[in-house]
Amino acid sequence: MSEFFSTQNRARFIEQMCQKPLDLLVIGGGITGAGIALDAVTRGMRTGLLEMQDFAAGTSSRSTKLIHGGLRYLKQLEIKLVAETGRERKIVYENGPHITKAEPMLLPLVKDGSLSKWSASLGLAVYDWLAKVPVSERRRMLSVEETKTMEPLLDNSSLIGGAHYYEYRTDDARLTIEVLKEAVDRGGRAVNYMKVIDFLYKDKKIAGVVVEDQLTSDKHEIYAQVIVNATGPWVDTLDVLNDTTKGEKLYLTKGVHIVVAQSRLPIRQALYFDTPDGRMVFAIPRAGKTYIGTTDTPYKGNTAHPHMTNEDLTYLLNAVNHIFPSVQLVASDVESHWVGLRPLIRQTGKGPSEISRKDEIFQYESGLISIAGGKLTGYRKMAERIVNLVAIRLRQKEGRKFTACQTHNLPVSGGNVGGSTGFENFVKEKMQQGVLLGLTAGESEKLVRMYGSNVGQVFSYLQNWKVESAAYGLTPVLFAQLQYALNHEMVVTPADFFIRRTGALYFHIDWVRNWETVVWTYLMNELKWSKEKAIEYRQQMRELIQEAEGDALMKNTK
Ligand SMILES: Cc1cc2nc3c(=O)[nH]c(=O)nc-3n(C[C@H](O)[C@H](O)[C@H](O)COP(=O)(O)OP(=O)(O)OC[C@H]3O[C@@H](n4cnc5c(N)ncnc54)[C@H](O)[C@@H]3O)c2cc1C
Repeated sequence: MSEFFSTQNRARFIEQMCQKPLDLLVIGGGITGAGIALDAVTRGMRTGLLEMQDFAAGTSSRSTKLIHGGLRYLKQLEIKLVAETGRERKIVYENGPHITKAEPMLLPLVKDGSLSKWSASLGLAVYDWLAKVPVSERRRMLSVEETKTMEPLLDNSSLIGGAHYYEYRTDDARLTIEVLKEAVDRGGRAVNYMKVIDFLYKDKKIAGVVVEDQLTSDKHEIYAQVIVNATGPWVDTLDVLNDTTKGEKLYLTKGVHIVVAQSRLPIRQALYFDTPDGRMVFAIPRAGKTYIGTTDTPYKGNTAHPHMTNEDLTYLLNAVNHIFPSVQLVASDVESHWVGLRPLIRQTGKGPSEISRKDEIFQYESGLISIAGGKLTGYRKMAERIVNLVAIRLRQKEGRKFTACQTHNLPVSGGNVGGSTGFENFVKEKMQQGVLLGLTAGESEKLVRMYGSNVGQVFSYLQNWKVESAAYGLTPVLFAQLQYALNHEMVVTPADFFIRRTGALYFHIDWVRNWETVVWTYLMNELKWSKEKAIEYRQQMRELIQEAEGDALMKNTK
């Protein structure tokens, strides 16, 4: 029986990783590292993962949240990338229908836009073919009238038609945590707030790491036969720590998304549309909001904390107001936002939007393996390639043999819901269970869709709600979610809960404002924070709320 992936078990997990050398140590708890850990564990490797912030706190909680083939990469003739990610989206969907859903997408075609009717039709047909898109989801070309009917907000004067096709929408941070939970459930070990600060060598070959616990400042040594650097935008930093002669290979670009109430941009479905400067951005409805993004500009600042500038904000507002002239969004409409960094592989002479999104593996003389680039969508295939390499290394070192990749048909945690075809029935059935426990149908459905086959565990906490949450005034749903996050998703701070376990800071910021103090008090008592930690986490959450609101910027740009 596996141990709970709980905050209380964090210290035990660290101890277990320190006890004897692992087969594989993964540095970085974004989607790339999580995918590698799951693949390795399922092949029988003793695997550990270290993350210096919270899981998914890097790029993997700051994407456009689409599982997609990347239609625009066809323009750059990235056939292999489109084919692979296109095929992967179906697999990601099947293995976690609770975390990924089909999202109909409208591509309005405009006069002098980046795609003509002909190129859009051909591009999407090639996309359907490469990604083996099922018949029901294949592209459909639309007349001006059909496009207008589908989206009445579009500007009539420049419209020449449209195309309708499918992408898939996810919650990137929850996808990461579901993959990690599955890895831990199968015997892997993963710990957040553990920063690798140095490498350890034996006969000039990498043999371990020195890691600093960001919560206690304690230092530990962890040894492993193979070490993989999967630190996304930080790959260069770790590679240079391993070998100072290695120059930069990453080119970081910044991507901003803004969130407005759906009533301010009441689109009927997701759109992928032209910007005045010849790029394309998404507008995607979600949970009563619409989010818009993304920008794509070179970035050189603080990797852990990129910011939205006035230019980013103005760019996205202009893009929306250009295609939907009747809407006229202003800065004060923006309720929340997030900013991410793309860890792209440097390609001399190419600008941000031209650089390939494909992943690349780097192997160093010391034995360190690094992986950079890639997409959320392709995480499983990236993991397969890395773990194939790890298996070869382990065979060479110790003569051990491992199976081929096992993750093609492996549900992630919460994904045992009868596949995509069984999911709606699963929702209906489980919803009843929540209603019988006293939830409204809406509350129950929300939990089932969010936690999938783990919802039974979430529901089980409802029994203790009255007694245990009386002093705090938590609602039954919030109490159950907090308990689950503490016991099964290693939540350490309020920010972990409000940003990466629930996505609420982006899509329900009012709810976060309402509950931030109660949640902080509850976590403080449950986790027995010191006075200093309590103050630090309170301050951190307040700053994050203010930042997501973009207060200072809004005032300047109204
Ligand atoms: C704006 C934007 C939109 C995007 N949209 C999409 C999309 O819609 N679909 C899609 O498929 N892809 C998308 N992507 C790409 C996708 O988000 C990334 O490819 C993916 O999230 C990268 O994951 P990662 O695990 O490699 O990096 P990260 O998620 O950044 O993870 C790396 C982790 O390593 C940790 N770390 C760093 N140094 C250390 C250390 N010393 N010790 C321990 N841990 C360390 C960091 O804290 C971090 O959490 C988008 C990217 C951006 C920026």
